[in-house]
Amino acid sequence: MGTLVQFTIAGADEDAALQAIHAAADEMQRIEDVFTIYGEQANTIKVFNASVAGEVVALPEEVESLLLTSLEVAEQSDGAFTPAIGALSLLWGFSLPEPPVSPPSAADIAVARSGVDIKQLDQTDVGWRRLSRQTRLDFGAIAKGYAIDRGISVLRELGISHAILDAGGDLRAIGDHAGQPWRIGLRHPRKAGVTLGWFEVKGDISIVTSGDYERFFIHQDRRYQHILDPQTGWPAARSRSATVITAGNTTLADAWSTALFVRGSDALSLIESRGMQALQVDAEGNIHATKLSLVSFHPTEEH
Ligand code: ADP
Ligand code: MG
Repeated sequence: MGTLVQFTIAGADEDAALQAIHAAADEMQRIEDVFTIYGEQANTIKVFNASVAGEVVALPEEVESLLLTSLEVAEQSDGAFTPAIGALSLLWGFSLPEPPVSPPSAADIAVARSGVDIKQLDQTDVGWRRLSRQTRLDFGAIAKGYAIDRGISVLRELGISHAILDAGGDLRAIGDHAGQPWRIGLRHPRKAGVTLGWFEVKGDISIVTSGDYERFFIHQDRRYQHILDPQTGWPAARSRSATVITAGNTTLADAWSTALFVRGSDALSLIESRGMQALQVDAEGNIHATKLSLVSFHPTEEH
């Protein structure tokens, strides 16, 4: 997933904690292998993305299940998040071993964007087919959340009840820290090492942030970052960062943080109406938020 995964475990002895961490890390690596569209190793998503238009490909249950969840969020977010974005992601190439230094041509963007349409993904009795050659799957905006959820399940199965599983700032916290709430910093999107504030978290809470500060390049004084607006085919420009908080569903928090990043603050009420909470930093650096009752948020005074 191109990120460092950090485990924090409380209330367990060291051997039990280490064993659980190794098992959870293996499970997360397995998920990366199943869902990635990069690298040389084969998987069914790469087979699907290379299939002839109209050819049916059987997807493993786990892949189909995350695809169905992704399609739901795509519909609910009006396509701001979409698993059909693969051709555009590959064209921009932010996750390739050699990241881009300038944007692709407008003509290539138009071609890739023509496939970004979930109606081109068709479910049959035996599998799935793509109706357009330009339609490719990309789970990059949801698979990390799913991997975190699976990692937490493994930790729990191995007797861990107090933990933070943090994959590059996207995390799920369970339990507490010797009776005290976990404290989780929210990164300032422009100042490394500076926080916008702290969340105090108890119980089972997922906090996922999509930002424009980790995978980007500057070309002719403009910033181009890796979260793309499916409507234009260009990097989404309404946000610097978008954070979604859920009661322990990191998969949904991940998908919706991407949707919020693309749509900007007008998606906050939609997110709230679905039982989630969120905080967005807009393109000017102003903070917008839903009510924040799942966590207690302590803004940093100076930023
Ligand atoms: P991060 O990778 O920083 O956690 P996201 O969860 O927002 O951020 O995922 C971004 C990745 O998702 C991109 O690298 C790309 O693969 C894919 N992506 C980009 N734009 C979209 C979008 N609008 N909908 C769905 N996936 C997207
Ligand atoms: Mg996401």
